[in-house]
Amino acid sequence: MSMMKAAIFVERGRIELADKPIPDVGPNDALIRITTTTICGTDIHILKGEYPVAKGLTIGHEPVGVIAKLGSAVNGYEEGQRVIAGAICPNFNSYAAQDGVASQDGSYLIGSSRCGAHGYKATAGWRFGNLIDGTQAEYVLVPDAQGNLAPIPDGLSDEQVLMCPDIMSTGFKGAENANIRIGDIVAVFAQGPIGLCATAGARLQGASTIIVIDGNDHRLGIAKQMGADVTLNFHTCDVVDEVMKLTGGRGVDASIEALGTQGTFESALRVLKPGGTLSSLGVYSSDLTIPLAAFAAGLGDHRINTALCPGGKERMRRLMNIVASGRADFGALVTHHFALDDIVAAYDLFANQRNGVLKVAITPH
Ligand SMILES: [Zn+2]
Repeated sequence: MSMMKAAIFVERGRIELADKPIPDVGPNDALIRITTTTICGTDIHILKGEYPVAKGLTIGHEPVGVIAKLGSAVNGYEEGQRVIAGAICPNFNSYAAQDGVASQDGSYLIGSSRCGAHGYKATAGWRFGNLIDGTQAEYVLVPDAQGNLAPIPDGLSDEQVLMCPDIMSTGFKGAENANIRIGDIVAVFAQGPIGLCATAGARLQGASTIIVIDGNDHRLGIAKQMGADVTLNFHTCDVVDEVMKLTGGRGVDASIEALGTQGTFESALRVLKPGGTLSSLGVYSSDLTIPLAAFAAGLGDHRINTALCPGGKERMRRLMNIVASGRADFGALVTHHFALDDIVAAYDLFANQRNGVLKVAITPH
Protein backbone atom coordinates (compact mmCIF):
# COMPACT_ATOMS: atom_id res chain seq x y z
CA MET A 1 0.00 0.00 0.00
CA SER A 2 1.53 3.32 -0.95
CA MET A 3 1.49 6.24 1.39
CA MET A 4 0.92 9.97 1.13
CA LYS A 5 1.43 13.08 3.24
CA ALA A 6 -1.64 14.63 4.84
CA ALA A 7 -2.30 17.44 7.35
CA ILE A 8 -4.25 15.87 10.19
CA PHE A 9 -6.01 17.17 13.31
CA VAL A 10 -3.98 15.85 16.25
CA GLU A 11 -5.54 17.74 19.17
CA ARG A 12 -6.65 21.27 20.01
CA GLY A 13 -3.95 23.63 18.76
CA ARG A 14 -2.19 20.99 16.64
CA ILE A 15 -2.65 20.23 12.95
CA GLU A 16 0.41 18.40 11.67
CA LEU A 17 1.69 16.47 8.67
CA ALA A 18 1.44 12.71 8.88
CA ASP A 19 1.79 9.71 6.59
CA LYS A 20 -1.46 8.04 5.60
CA PRO A 21 -2.37 5.34 3.11
CA ILE A 22 -3.56 6.55 -0.28
CA PRO A 23 -7.27 5.62 -0.16
CA ASP A 24 -8.87 2.85 -2.19
CA VAL A 25 -11.34 3.91 -4.86
CA GLY A 26 -14.93 2.64 -4.57
CA PRO A 27 -17.25 2.45 -7.59
CA ASN A 28 -18.69 5.97 -7.11
CA ASP A 29 -15.46 7.68 -6.02
CA ALA A 30 -12.63 9.44 -7.76
CA LEU A 31 -9.10 9.72 -6.42
CA ILE A 32 -7.74 13.20 -7.03
CA ARG A 33 -4.05 14.06 -6.91
CA ILE A 34 -4.10 17.50 -5.29
CA THR A 35 -2.15 20.15 -7.19
CA THR A 36 -3.32 23.16 -5.13
CA THR A 37 -5.43 23.56 -2.01
CA THR A 38 -5.82 26.18 0.70
CA ILE A 39 -6.69 26.84 4.33
CA CYS A 40 -10.13 28.19 5.28
CA GLY A 41 -11.24 30.18 8.31
CA THR A 42 -13.28 27.13 9.26
CA ASP A 43 -10.04 25.12 9.51
CA ILE A 44 -8.87 27.62 12.13
CA HIS A 45 -12.04 26.90 14.14
CA ILE A 46 -11.03 23.22 13.91
CA LEU A 47 -7.43 23.98 14.90
CA LYS A 48 -8.62 25.92 17.96
CA GLY A 49 -10.95 23.12 18.97
CA GLU A 50 -14.03 25.32 18.43
CA TYR A 51 -15.40 22.98 15.78
CA PRO A 52 -14.99 19.31 16.69
CA VAL A 53 -13.60 16.76 14.24
CA ALA A 54 -12.18 13.28 14.80
CA LYS A 55 -8.53 12.98 15.80
CA GLY A 56 -6.46 11.90 12.83
CA LEU A 57 -8.85 13.36 10.26
CA THR A 58 -7.22 15.04 7.25
CA ILE A 59 -8.26 18.71 7.21
CA GLY A 60 -9.12 20.91 4.21
CA HIS A 61 -12.07 21.20 1.84
CA GLU A 62 -10.87 23.16 -1.20
CA PRO A 63 -9.50 20.78 -3.84
CA VAL A 64 -7.86 21.60 -7.17
CA GLY A 65 -6.19 18.63 -8.83
CA VAL A 66 -5.94 15.91 -11.42
CA ILE A 67 -7.98 12.71 -11.62
CA ALA A 68 -5.62 9.91 -10.59
CA LYS A 69 -8.16 7.09 -10.55
CA LEU A 70 -11.84 6.82 -11.38
CA GLY A 71 -14.37 4.51 -9.77
CA SER A 72 -15.93 1.93 -12.08
CA ALA A 73 -19.37 3.64 -12.02
CA VAL A 74 -18.13 7.18 -12.72
CA ASN A 75 -18.73 8.10 -16.36
CA GLY A 76 -17.80 11.06 -18.52
CA TYR A 77 -14.38 11.80 -17.05
CA GLU A 78 -10.80 10.74 -17.83
CA GLU A 79 -7.86 10.00 -15.65
CA GLY A 80 -5.36 12.85 -15.98
CA GLN A 81 -8.14 15.44 -16.36
CA ARG A 82 -7.84 18.66 -14.30
CA VAL A 83 -10.81 19.10 -11.98
CA ILE A 84 -12.14 20.80 -8.89
CA ALA A 85 -14.85 19.63 -6.54
CA GLY A 86 -16.98 21.76 -4.26
CA ALA A 87 -16.15 21.96 -0.57
CA ILE A 88 -19.63 20.49 -0.14
CA CYS A 89 -20.03 17.09 -1.83
CA PRO A 90 -23.66 16.01 -1.64
CA ASN A 91 -25.15 12.83 -2.98
CA PHE A 92 -27.43 14.33 -5.59
CA ASN A 93 -29.72 11.29 -5.46
CA SER A 94 -30.67 12.13 -1.86
CA TYR A 95 -33.99 13.43 -0.51
CA ALA A 96 -32.24 16.61 0.65
CA ALA A 97 -30.80 17.28 -2.81
CA GLN A 98 -34.13 16.68 -4.51
CA ASP A 99 -35.69 19.05 -1.97
CA GLY A 100 -33.27 21.79 -3.09
CA VAL A 101 -31.05 21.71 0.00
CA ALA A 102 -28.28 19.42 -1.18
CA SER A 103 -25.75 20.90 1.26
CA GLN A 104 -27.81 19.47 4.14
CA ASP A 105 -27.54 15.92 2.81
CA GLY A 106 -26.33 13.27 5.23
CA SER A 107 -27.71 10.29 3.34
CA TYR A 108 -24.27 8.64 3.28
CA LEU A 109 -24.47 8.46 7.10
CA ILE A 110 -27.68 6.42 7.22
CA GLY A 111 -25.78 3.15 7.63
CA SER A 112 -23.99 4.52 10.71
CA SER A 113 -27.33 5.79 12.12
CA ARG A 114 -26.00 9.32 12.47
CA CYS A 115 -29.10 10.66 10.71
CA GLY A 116 -32.67 9.54 10.09
CA ALA A 117 -33.75 7.37 7.18
CA HIS A 118 -34.64 10.45 5.12
CA GLY A 119 -30.96 11.51 5.15
CA TYR A 120 -31.34 15.15 6.19
CA LYS A 121 -28.58 16.27 8.50
CA ALA A 122 -27.63 19.93 8.91
CA THR A 123 -24.24 20.73 7.32
CA ALA A 124 -23.53 17.06 6.49
CA GLY A 125 -23.02 17.84 2.81
CA TRP A 126 -19.71 19.24 4.03
CA ARG A 127 -17.72 16.03 4.11
CA PHE A 128 -14.09 16.92 3.27
CA GLY A 129 -12.11 17.69 6.41
CA ASN A 130 -15.27 17.42 8.51
CA LEU A 131 -16.67 13.90 8.28
CA ILE A 132 -14.24 12.32 5.77
CA ASP A 133 -10.57 12.93 5.01
CA GLY A 134 -9.97 16.31 3.41
CA THR A 135 -7.83 18.00 0.80
CA GLN A 136 -4.68 19.16 2.61
CA ALA A 137 -2.90 16.06 1.38
CA GLU A 138 -1.26 14.63 -1.70
CA TYR A 139 -4.50 12.81 -2.60
CA VAL A 140 -8.17 13.10 -1.70
CA LEU A 141 -11.04 10.72 -2.37
CA VAL A 142 -14.04 12.55 -3.87
CA PRO A 143 -17.29 10.74 -3.00
CA ASP A 144 -20.25 10.66 -5.41
CA ALA A 145 -17.80 11.82 -8.03
CA GLN A 146 -20.29 11.81 -10.89
CA GLY A 147 -22.15 14.71 -9.28
CA ASN A 148 -19.18 16.49 -7.79
CA LEU A 149 -16.24 16.55 -10.21
CA ALA A 150 -16.07 19.70 -12.32
CA PRO A 151 -13.53 19.87 -15.18
CA ILE A 152 -11.41 23.04 -15.20
CA PRO A 153 -11.81 25.03 -18.44
CA ASP A 154 -8.69 25.25 -20.60
CA GLY A 155 -6.60 28.29 -19.89
CA LEU A 156 -7.49 28.68 -16.21
CA SER A 157 -4.70 28.19 -13.68
CA ASP A 158 -5.06 26.36 -10.36
CA GLU A 159 -4.96 29.66 -8.50
CA GLN A 160 -7.67 31.19 -10.66
CA VAL A 161 -10.10 28.43 -9.66
CA LEU A 162 -8.87 27.92 -6.09
CA MET A 163 -11.63 30.17 -4.68
CA CYS A 164 -14.43 28.29 -6.45
CA PRO A 165 -14.89 25.23 -4.17
CA ASP A 166 -15.73 27.27 -1.09
CA ILE A 167 -14.96 30.99 -0.89
CA MET A 168 -16.65 32.07 -4.11
CA SER A 169 -19.50 29.60 -3.73
CA THR A 170 -20.15 30.77 -0.16
CA GLY A 171 -19.71 34.49 -0.82
CA PHE A 172 -21.93 34.41 -3.88
CA LYS A 173 -24.53 32.38 -2.00
CA GLY A 174 -24.56 35.20 0.54
CA ALA A 175 -25.43 37.64 -2.23
CA GLU A 176 -27.99 35.27 -3.74
CA ASN A 177 -29.62 34.69 -0.34
CA ALA A 178 -29.80 38.46 0.22
CA ASN A 179 -32.46 38.62 -2.55
CA ILE A 180 -30.62 41.56 -4.10
CA ARG A 181 -32.55 43.38 -6.84
CA ILE A 182 -31.12 45.77 -9.40
CA GLY A 183 -30.61 49.11 -7.66
CA ASP A 184 -30.49 47.80 -4.09
CA ILE A 185 -28.28 49.25 -1.40
CA VAL A 186 -26.38 46.47 0.32
CA ALA A 187 -24.17 46.40 3.43
CA VAL A 188 -21.57 43.65 3.83
CA PHE A 189 -20.19 43.09 7.32
CA ALA A 190 -16.57 41.79 7.38
CA GLN A 191 -14.25 41.69 4.39
CA GLY A 192 -12.31 38.51 4.84
CA PRO A 193 -12.12 36.29 1.75
CA ILE A 194 -15.79 35.28 1.97
CA GLY A 195 -16.99 38.81 2.64
CA LEU A 196 -14.95 40.05 -0.32
CA CYS A 197 -16.60 37.46 -2.55
CA ALA A 198 -20.00 38.48 -1.17
CA THR A 199 -19.18 42.06 -2.16
CA ALA A 200 -18.29 40.93 -5.68
CA GLY A 201 -21.46 38.84 -5.76
CA ALA A 202 -23.62 41.78 -4.66
CA ARG A 203 -22.21 43.80 -7.53
CA LEU A 204 -22.90 41.00 -10.01
CA GLN A 205 -26.47 40.78 -8.66
CA GLY A 206 -27.07 44.42 -9.52
CA ALA A 207 -26.64 46.38 -6.27
CA SER A 208 -26.30 50.11 -6.94
CA THR A 209 -24.44 50.90 -3.72
CA ILE A 210 -22.37 48.48 -1.67
CA ILE A 211 -21.26 49.59 1.79
CA VAL A 212 -18.63 47.35 3.35
CA ILE A 213 -17.48 47.21 6.96
CA ASP A 214 -14.23 45.86 8.39
CA GLY A 215 -11.57 46.87 10.90
CA ASN A 216 -8.66 46.40 8.50
CA ASP A 217 -7.86 49.16 6.00
CA HIS A 218 -5.89 46.80 3.76
CA ARG A 219 -8.96 44.59 3.35
CA LEU A 220 -11.17 47.64 2.81
CA GLY A 221 -8.82 48.64 -0.02
CA ILE A 222 -9.23 45.25 -1.68
CA ALA A 223 -13.00 45.54 -1.17
CA LYS A 224 -12.93 48.59 -3.45
CA GLN A 225 -11.40 46.42 -6.19
CA MET A 226 -14.20 43.89 -5.63
CA GLY A 227 -16.92 46.48 -6.15
CA ALA A 228 -17.45 48.25 -2.82
CA ASP A 229 -18.61 51.86 -3.15
CA VAL A 230 -18.26 52.94 0.49
CA THR A 231 -15.84 51.46 3.01
CA LEU A 232 -16.30 51.90 6.76
CA ASN A 233 -13.68 51.03 9.36
CA PHE A 234 -15.46 50.15 12.61
CA HIS A 235 -12.46 51.40 14.60
CA THR A 236 -13.06 54.95 13.40
CA CYS A 237 -16.85 55.32 13.18
CA ASP A 238 -20.15 54.09 14.56
CA VAL A 239 -21.03 51.76 11.74
CA VAL A 240 -24.78 51.57 12.35
CA ASP A 241 -25.11 55.39 12.57
CA GLU A 242 -23.02 55.82 9.46
CA VAL A 243 -25.03 53.33 7.36
CA MET A 244 -28.30 54.90 8.50
CA LYS A 245 -26.96 58.34 7.48
CA LEU A 246 -25.82 57.00 4.10
CA THR A 247 -29.32 55.63 3.45
CA GLY A 248 -31.16 58.73 4.63
CA GLY A 249 -32.45 56.87 7.67
CA ARG A 250 -34.12 54.24 5.51
CA GLY A 251 -31.73 51.36 6.12
CA VAL A 252 -30.24 49.03 3.55
CA ASP A 253 -32.29 46.72 1.35
CA ALA A 254 -30.08 43.80 2.27
CA SER A 255 -27.27 43.13 4.66
CA ILE A 256 -24.78 40.29 4.48
CA GLU A 257 -23.05 38.99 7.61
CA ALA A 258 -19.73 37.33 6.76
CA LEU A 259 -17.99 36.74 10.09
CA GLY A 260 -20.14 34.92 12.61
CA THR A 261 -20.20 37.09 15.74
CA GLN A 262 -22.99 38.59 17.84
CA GLY A 263 -21.71 42.08 17.01
CA THR A 264 -21.74 41.73 13.24
CA PHE A 265 -25.06 39.87 13.23
CA GLU A 266 -26.65 42.53 15.37
CA SER A 267 -25.29 45.40 13.30
CA ALA A 268 -26.46 43.69 10.12
CA LEU A 269 -29.96 43.64 11.61
CA ARG A 270 -29.83 47.19 12.96
CA VAL A 271 -29.03 48.68 9.53
CA LEU A 272 -31.74 46.68 7.72
CA LYS A 273 -34.89 48.37 6.44
CA PRO A 274 -38.27 46.86 7.36
CA GLY A 275 -38.90 44.14 4.81
CA GLY A 276 -35.19 43.76 4.11
CA THR A 277 -33.17 40.57 4.06
CA LEU A 278 -30.30 39.64 6.34
CA SER A 279 -28.16 37.02 4.68
CA SER A 280 -25.94 35.30 7.23
CA LEU A 281 -22.77 33.47 6.14
CA GLY A 282 -20.71 33.42 9.33
CA VAL A 283 -19.95 30.32 11.36
CA TYR A 284 -21.09 31.20 14.90
CA SER A 285 -19.40 29.79 17.99
CA SER A 286 -22.09 30.57 20.57
CA ASP A 287 -25.78 31.40 20.95
CA LEU A 288 -27.06 34.52 19.22
CA THR A 289 -29.29 37.16 20.77
CA ILE A 290 -31.69 39.08 18.56
CA PRO A 291 -32.15 42.71 19.65
CA LEU A 292 -35.84 43.41 20.11
CA ALA A 293 -36.04 46.91 18.60
CA ALA A 294 -34.00 46.06 15.51
CA PHE A 295 -36.18 42.97 15.07
CA ALA A 296 -39.28 45.16 15.38
CA ALA A 297 -40.50 42.74 18.04
CA GLY A 298 -40.86 40.18 15.26
CA LEU A 299 -43.20 42.35 13.15
CA GLY A 300 -40.73 43.91 10.69
CA ASP A 301 -41.21 41.61 7.69
CA HIS A 302 -37.48 40.91 7.95
CA ARG A 303 -36.08 37.80 6.40
CA ILE A 304 -33.04 36.11 7.89
CA ASN A 305 -31.42 33.54 5.61
CA THR A 306 -28.60 31.20 6.50
CA ALA A 307 -26.54 29.08 4.15
CA LEU A 308 -23.94 26.44 3.73
CA CYS A 309 -22.16 26.90 0.43
CA PRO A 310 -23.60 24.99 -2.52
CA GLY A 311 -21.48 22.29 -4.11
CA GLY A 312 -21.81 20.10 -7.16
CA LYS A 313 -20.43 20.19 -10.68
CA GLU A 314 -23.03 22.60 -12.06
CA ARG A 315 -22.34 25.16 -9.32
CA MET A 316 -18.59 24.78 -9.89
CA ARG A 317 -19.03 25.09 -13.68
CA ARG A 318 -20.89 28.38 -13.24
CA LEU A 319 -18.31 29.79 -10.83
CA MET A 320 -15.41 28.85 -13.11
CA ASN A 321 -17.27 30.53 -15.99
CA ILE A 322 -17.42 33.74 -13.93
CA VAL A 323 -13.64 33.56 -13.60
CA ALA A 324 -13.11 32.65 -17.27
CA SER A 325 -15.32 35.50 -18.47
CA GLY A 326 -13.49 38.04 -16.33
CA ARG A 327 -16.75 39.12 -14.61
CA ALA A 328 -14.89 38.82 -11.31
CA ASP A 329 -11.22 38.35 -10.52
CA PHE A 330 -10.15 36.91 -7.20
CA GLY A 331 -6.44 36.70 -7.98
CA ALA A 332 -5.73 39.34 -5.33
CA LEU A 333 -7.03 36.98 -2.65
CA VAL A 334 -4.13 34.53 -2.96
CA THR A 335 -1.48 36.39 -1.01
CA HIS A 336 0.93 33.63 0.10
CA HIS A 337 2.30 30.31 -1.17
CA PHE A 338 3.46 27.29 0.81
CA ALA A 339 4.52 23.73 0.06
CA LEU A 340 2.39 21.09 1.77
CA ASP A 341 5.54 20.21 3.75
CA ASP A 342 5.37 23.69 5.32
CA ILE A 343 1.67 23.65 6.13
CA VAL A 344 2.21 24.13 9.88
CA ALA A 345 3.86 27.48 9.09
CA ALA A 346 0.99 28.30 6.74
CA TYR A 347 -1.51 27.64 9.55
CA ASP A 348 0.50 29.84 11.88
CA LEU A 349 0.51 32.74 9.40
CA PHE A 350 -3.17 32.33 8.50
CA ALA A 351 -4.46 31.81 12.04
CA ASN A 352 -2.65 34.91 13.25
CA GLN A 353 -3.57 36.97 10.16
CA ARG A 354 -0.01 38.20 9.68
CA ASN A 355 1.50 40.00 6.68
CA GLY A 356 -1.81 40.94 5.08
CA VAL A 357 -2.70 37.30 4.44
CA LEU A 358 -6.05 36.61 2.78
CA LYS A 359 -5.67 33.11 1.31
CA VAL A 360 -2.66 30.82 1.08
CA ALA A 361 -2.05 28.48 -1.87
CA ILE A 362 -0.75 25.10 -0.67
CA THR A 363 0.99 22.89 -3.22
CA PRO A 364 1.98 19.28 -2.46
CA HIS A 365 4.73 19.15 -5.13
ZN1 LIG B 1 -14.33 26.79 4.12
